[in-house]
Amino acid sequence: MATKGPVQVYRFQTIWEEAHWIAQKCRDLYDAGQAIALVLPTPEPSPLLRHRLLQKKMLPPSPRFTITQSLPPKGPLVILPHCHLDFQNTSPVETPYEEILQKHPSPILVTFAKMDLMGRDLYPLPVLHSLPYEAIEPPKDNPSPSKEPEGHFRFQSARALKNLETHLSGRSWSVTELEDYLQCPFYYFARHLLRLKTALIVDGDVPPPVLGQCLHTILYRFFTTARSEFVTALDQTEKKEALLQELATQTQAVFSEMRREYPEILEGLWEQKKTRILSALKKFIKEEWRQLKEQHTYHPTYFEWGFGGPHTEKPLTLTTDEGTYSIQGRIDRIDIDVNQKRFVVIDYKTGQGVTGASIQKGKSLQIPLYIAAAQQNLDKSMEPMGGLFVNFNHLTKKDGLLKMEAAETFGLHPRSSTYTPDDVWERLFCELPQKIEGLIKNILHGHFPLRSEDDPCPPYCEFQEVCHVKERKQT
Ligand code: SF4
Repeated sequence: MATKGPVQVYRFQTIWEEAHWIAQKCRDLYDAGQAIALVLPTPEPSPLLRHRLLQKKMLPPSPRFTITQSLPPKGPLVILPHCHLDFQNTSPVETPYEEILQKHPSPILVTFAKMDLMGRDLYPLPVLHSLPYEAIEPPKDNPSPSKEPEGHFRFQSARALKNLETHLSGRSWSVTELEDYLQCPFYYFARHLLRLKTALIVDGDVPPPVLGQCLHTILYRFFTTARSEFVTALDQTEKKEALLQELATQTQAVFSEMRREYPEILEGLWEQKKTRILSALKKFIKEEWRQLKEQHTYHPTYFEWGFGGPHTEKPLTLTTDEGTYSIQGRIDRIDIDVNQKRFVVIDYKTGQGVTGASIQKGKSLQIPLYIAAAQQNLDKSMEPMGGLFVNFNHLTKKDGLLKMEAAETFGLHPRSSTYTPDDVWERLFCELPQKIEGLIKNILHGHFPLRSEDDPCPPYCEFQEVCHVKERKQT
């Protein structure tokens, strides 16, 4: 490491290295009680780096610190603005770097990236340029991160991998996190490891996650209240009316609670949404009655049916030659045909649906895992017939995975990809343990690439600002 008076200078190749190497380096120096000055390649730190540093309390709350005539404030980290030559702006820079570098009593770590997010060369201010730089070396037991193809982010250091192993292995895995990893490993990394939380953006509408929460709660309360009456009301108009009134009451109650929880959402929006949601739910319930009467005998039986958690059913266990994996989750609804001893699992969706074809190709594992969990926990004589998504955007219940023999029962289009040939069904469930094991191994090995370029990212993905997927596409 180069040491010149109080200044140590390092160069980093890319933003990825910065996000992790710099954070690590800063933490080491912070632990050693040294002051740090951090020079970033972009006017603002990347959201990922910023979040990591904030989490470690190494960043002042303001993203920029404007240095005037004084030395850096007390604290381990200072972000120096205007540290690169800006060819668009030739006005003189007044930041007193020279003074800071010469007079600061503690060692300062200056980091400097050679390129920006778009891969363009960056040039430091002359005062920084005159310092002797040293390229930071990755630990010897790991290959250089820069050898990884762009977007194939993976953990490099033995210490980070050990941390993953310590914190993650041997515990119960949730269906949600495994599905998140399958959809986009980076999304998993941001949501479940970094635990990034995006601010709720209220821009003229009730945000979709809040609406989803409303729908789940209303339906849970409605079905647990209605229970057996939901089926016996089939031929009784008055009973049906009473249940629809119950639905309206629950909707009103849930919206009132949510309104208190999210006061930033305008009053008028709640009213507008409540009317629309109630109308959609009524249509959904009436359609459920119609199907019960005309097509099938599956009765909604279990609601918010948990497995693997405290006070719930047992976890799903999947065993391979190499180990046993414990899975936990919560199924929105399980419908049972008591006479034929068959069941289907139901999941309520407010976002993008998942087609049968995708599930059969192994691109979504949520429904197969739910089916397997219910099969392990319910009466052994119960036969799984499949699982369906209720999509509240279109008010449909047609996507999912159903056995061919359920074709007549659920009345979907005969060529619907939801109907799954027996051999595909067999293969899917036979391969499920290995598939889950593969995902878990990848997580423990620190592989967190961006979503495959063949699968477009969901337009609403909350981490698109963090993962820089757009920059990848532009380059
Ligand atoms: S935008 Fe795409 S690549 Fe980025 S986190 Fe979301 S799903 Fe992954």
